[in-house]
Amino acid sequence: MTAEAAGSPAATALAPFGTVLAGMMVVCPAEGGVFSPPRLVPTGPLELSPAAHVLHYGSAVFEGLKAHRGHDGVVRLFRAARHVERLRQSATMACLPVPDAALLHQAVHRVVSGNLDEVPRAPGSLYLRPVLIGTEPNVGAAASPSRDALLYIVASPVGDYFSGGGRPLRLLVETTLPRTAPQFGQVKAGANYVTALGVTERARADHGADQVLFAPGGDVQETGAANLLLLDEQRVVTKALDGSFLHGVTRDSLLVLAADLGLVVEERDISLDELVSWARGGGEAALAGTAAVLAGVGTLVVDGDEILVGDGTVGPVTGRLREQLLAIQRAEVPDRHGWTEPVARG
Ligand SMILES: *Cc1c(COP(=O)(O)O)cnc(C)c1O
Repeated sequence: MTAEAAGSPAATALAPFGTVLAGMMVVCPAEGGVFSPPRLVPTGPLELSPAAHVLHYGSAVFEGLKAHRGHDGVVRLFRAARHVERLRQSATMACLPVPDAALLHQAVHRVVSGNLDEVPRAPGSLYLRPVLIGTEPNVGAAASPSRDALLYIVASPVGDYFSGGGRPLRLLVETTLPRTAPQFGQVKAGANYVTALGVTERARADHGADQVLFAPGGDVQETGAANLLLLDEQRVVTKALDGSFLHGVTRDSLLVLAADLGLVVEERDISLDELVSWARGGGEAALAGTAAVLAGVGTLVVDGDEILVGDGTVGPVTGRLREQLLAIQRAEVPDRHGWTEPVARG
């Protein structure tokens, strides 16, 4: 591939995931719980009181979704309504002011239309990161919610998450510690990430693991940032929706596509014993999330034992489902489920 001018969509798509921000962002402050209309402004530093609630008491939630440029050149958002609803749920559970769905939807369109020329061609996309933080300037507000807030959305032109072509992942299975506090399992919050960070760093240093799969007491939940699917030629198995994990939009989409392909979909608890016998029995395992789409798992480390998942490579069903989802996002096949919506030039 030849180098292109810096700043062109193709060039920025080659930077590591999330390190380059698009030129424009949306900001939307709330005072006393009331949000003002979203404004498109040049991407730059935020002004915050050093006493802002978020900086002391961690009142912050976020989302992650993508806009894709189809082969027809049209830019489309993928399942924006689902992400909007999940951000509202996270805000509610974190006791932050909750923006209206219509306002959030408009803000998401605004940030894409304001950066339309920066949406890369496939396999790249524009990753959107809506963030909602508590801004009330009061260090005494430890035990009360912030009534002031800032919603902002930055955009990042990203390439294929796996520039190396989808190396199979190595997961350390953590059987004691939970990923996060039980009442925060369904909240998409930085607090959950910082909770899992020390565990993940140790897993990397001690076991060369890419991620930690949390299975406290043998109940297989998810990794720090993605949902787990077990797959073979007959079925897809994943944990049923409960309060312990983040309900991924990618997970939901892949289950629908799996059923379309004639696979049996089983949503139920998965024990560590079942996971190990699934891996030893030649099944596939993969992680589902917006950034990586569907990433194959090659190895599990359980109590110091290394267990290959199937033959240790990314499996065929994983590959097929991943391609199916990407084809819908890129408008290469009909969107039979009404998941995509075009973004007009703003
Ligand atoms: C964001 C996230 C996911 C994946 O959700 P998608 O909607 O598929 O991107 C899974 N687990 C956690 C903990 C997350 O934060």
